[in-house]
Amino acid sequence: MSTPFESDLLSRFLRYTAIDTMSDEQAVRTKSPSTEGQWDLLRLLAQELGEMGVEDIQIADEGVVIARLPSNTEKKVPTVAFMAHVDTADDVPGNGVKARVIDAYTGGDIPLNDEVTLSVSDNPSLEAYIGETLIVTDGTTLLGSDDKAGIAEIMSAIRYLVDNPQVKHGEVEVIFTTDEETGAGMDNFPYDKIRCEYCYTIDGGGRHRIESECFNAATVNVRFEGISYHLGMARGRLVNALTMAAYFVNSLPQAESPEATDERYGYYCAQTISGTATAVDLTIYLRDFDLDVLNRRIEALKALAAATEALYHGGTVHLDATHVYYNMAMIARNKPFAMENLKEAGRQLGFELTEQLIRGGTDGARMANEQNIPCPNIFTGGYNLHSVYEWAALPAMVDAARLIIKIAEVGAR
Ligand SMILES: [Zn+2]
Repeated sequence: MSTPFESDLLSRFLRYTAIDTMSDEQAVRTKSPSTEGQWDLLRLLAQELGEMGVEDIQIADEGVVIARLPSNTEKKVPTVAFMAHVDTADDVPGNGVKARVIDAYTGGDIPLNDEVTLSVSDNPSLEAYIGETLIVTDGTTLLGSDDKAGIAEIMSAIRYLVDNPQVKHGEVEVIFTTDEETGAGMDNFPYDKIRCEYCYTIDGGGRHRIESECFNAATVNVRFEGISYHLGMARGRLVNALTMAAYFVNSLPQAESPEATDERYGYYCAQTISGTATAVDLTIYLRDFDLDVLNRRIEALKALAAATEALYHGGTVHLDATHVYYNMAMIARNKPFAMENLKEAGRQLGFELTEQLIRGGTDGARMANEQNIPCPNIFTGGYNLHSVYEWAALPAMVDAARLIIKIAEVGAR
């Protein structure tokens, strides 16, 4: 028997996954949000919040819904926000999702269709959910728990807070964004419209995982200019930009590449190259959890540029490094209460939260960096994200929603 809270959460999730909100990496350059379906879901969410009795709801032109539940405590406490994104990835088809509910999982492999099977050997986490409700795909699309599980959990938590005024909380802000998967969602974010002092993205993975650290990132553009000359009379005169670029790329330490690192180790990654013997443009991505180490790599590339110039006399190497985002842990260190409240909420619920590193960036990291708002990431209960093998576990989704409610409560003390 499912509780009303569970049925509310599950029916929301299914309702949201049925709406096509796949974002479009090409269209995002000219249109925001990149696809119409994202507006459809934003409008539905605003409408549903209104029906719950939430009064302060805005649909911002930038493609963001911002809603606020007023404080119901005498105490003056900072506004807390919960954020999730309405779009889904385009790694596999993300539209036309036909989610299937397995009411009481009996264990074993789960056939998704005649050809595609979700196997326990690839998904040992399935075994933790025997007897529980799972949601799977029909094997042709992703499920969209990234991030519609996060959306549904926030919505159910808000509904619970509205229906249970005896639960005391400060002002709670809800932020639903678009185009997270294309990386463009925060480019025009209307920061002037939000009030939170700390925020949580509900955009993680498996049960009880939380994340408070992401990479520091820099993009380094390197331009090699050679000297062109008639090839028949090139001796001692021609300087080949391609040879210079090849030397440069080959000098990057192989042990510090994405394919050779994990956990806390950062890397250099040659990402794009284009050009001719006369001129070459090369882009290198640098990533590290430690900003000093990231900056050390920038200095190493500058030294390598100087060495390349010295070795290929007459050629020039111009290098330009830009920091793209920073590890949100740096902000969290100055404002530790976001993580403290999250961990306290987990303790009160008896959850064993495990902290993981994000080897990438998040929208929360953008918010942390740009507005000095700490923004840890919380699990959604979705697994195998961005894949036709994606599945979600209702008990884990319920835990995420309960954690949201508890964080709001802890924040009021
Ligand atoms: Zn996501």
